Amino acid sequence: MKQFETELPERYRQVYEIDAKDGKTGVILNIVALLFGVLVFLPFVFAIGFRTLFNPEARSRYWLMLGTYFGGYLLYIVLHELVHGAAYKLLTRRKLTFGFAMTVAYCGVPDIYVYRKASLIATLAPFVVFTVLFLPLALFVRTPGLRIAFILLFCSHVAGCVGDLYGAALMLFRFRDPKLLVRDTGPKQTYYLPE
Ligand SMILES: [Zn+2]
Repeated sequence: MKQFETELPERYRQVYEIDAKDGKTGVILNIVALLFGVLVFLPFVFAIGFRTLFNPEARSRYWLMLGTYFGGYLLYIVLHELVHGAAYKLLTRRKLTFGFAMTVAYCGVPDIYVYRKASLIATLAPFVVFTVLFLPLALFVRTPGLRIAFILLFCSHVAGCVGDLYGAALMLFRFRDPKLLVRDTGPKQTYYLPE
């Protein structure tokens, strides 16, 4: 099956657009991301307990915790986009674009229109890959200090995927037609359907 079109076929029209560079959308996505992050964090606090999570030993390892978290998160931002890129490259073999816009890093494949299935795979790839990677670390690492760093990394990952999850939810629930085409310039995804 064809994964993409190089030009928008005739009789296709735009049905939706997500623009992370648009002020209002950016603000809403950031607020939802923050809520998601907190919501994912709370079960850990309830399961483990605030005292255990931040016990004196964990607090004495302040720098290990901060270093692992911030270092890990910077690395994660880059790797997250590279996973989008790898998925797009495998599926389309076309030129990619990477960059930063305000509060988001992005990866897109701007010169083509990608069909629903390929777009869904590329959109969800980092969420799946890093959930599989971070969740066991967040659940099973017992080392004081490191434990909290991995839990925070996992929560930040889920929060950072809010834009991707929104795009994926649109394709899973609202635009289920396999003929759906998506143009992803990186910060902006535009959805097209035949009339
Ligand atoms: Zn992403």
